[in-house]
Amino acid sequence: CFFNAGMDRAVRDRRTLENDLRRAVESDGIALAYQPVLSVETGQITSAEALARWTHPSRGAISPETFISLAEESGLIDRLGDQLLRRACTDARDWPSHVRVAVNLSPLQFVSGGLVGRIRSVLEEVGLEADRLQLEVTEGLMIRDVERTFGQLEQLRGLGMQVLIDDFGVGYSSLSYFQRFSFDKVKIDKSFVDTIATSHTSRAIVQSVVELGRKLGMGVVAEGVETEEQMRLLLECGCTHLQGYLFSRPIAADAIRHLLARDSGS
Ligand code: C2E
Ligand code: CA
Ligand code: CA
Ligand code: CA
Repeated sequence: CFFNAGMDRAVRDRRTLENDLRRAVESDGIALAYQPVLSVETGQITSAEALARWTHPSRGAISPETFISLAEESGLIDRLGDQLLRRACTDARDWPSHVRVAVNLSPLQFVSGGLVGRIRSVLEEVGLEADRLQLEVTEGLMIRDVERTFGQLEQLRGLGMQVLIDDFGVGYSSLSYFQRFSFDKVKIDKSFVDTIATSHTSRAIVQSVVELGRKLGMGVVAEGVETEEQMRLLLECGCTHLQGYLFSRPIAADAIRHLLARDSGS
């Protein structure tokens, strides 16, 4: 039966990939690329987002969406998350002190309960101030134990970290999150940026998020900005920060260090 044969192969492929990922995590083989985020007000880079990269020995680049969800499903996410956090904080130590590093957190990293303590000790060991670290969390986060997650975010924010809500406006959006937690910034999902030049609806949504941000004291980051036209419209809407290929793709640690040194005029 072709169907079953195909299924078998898919399951085997997955197991193999899972084992390869485990090996990569064990050998510290997942890299980070950094993408700058610019302040609209000053035109300067105010932060850089750390994005995970895995080059598989035979399959080449595997997308983070694929291997992060594999890590989540196979119980590797805490270990991988800690490893990437440590690397990001270590790299950020070499940056100008006004530039923050943004790290993406999986919702599952809030489940085990030890996250706050582990982030604290990484910062201490590496010697990075808490206010240099931004944490990006997605709305998917809230599906699980909402109160527990908010409790941990509250503690992290209390320590001086900024907390951003990522991919805002898609998935399990709920405006009631803003009643329970003060996010520092909102990242508007790329899908709205993609269509802002062609869709009045997208533009209206971006405008509304910016207005909400202004009223609640949250900056609004537009990600995935690729064209001048999109940039113009996003500025018109009042976004406070921009990120996207128009300014820079995610680049290696060495490259971002040089870019930041140049950008801050040193
Ligand atoms: P995200 O956090 O929403 O990251 C933004 C994604 O958009 C990144 O894809 C980035 O490379 C891409 N991007 C940025 N600007 C542009 C643009 O102008 N045009 C286009 N077409 N794309 C742009 P990437 O690196 O493939 O990451 C995909 C997703 O994987 C991330 O989405 C995030 O959810 C997840 N991810 C990546 N690294 C990590 C990590 O270290 N930990 C966790 N938990 N998730 C991660
Ligand atoms: Ca992100
Ligand atoms: Ca995003
Ligand atoms: Ca995303």
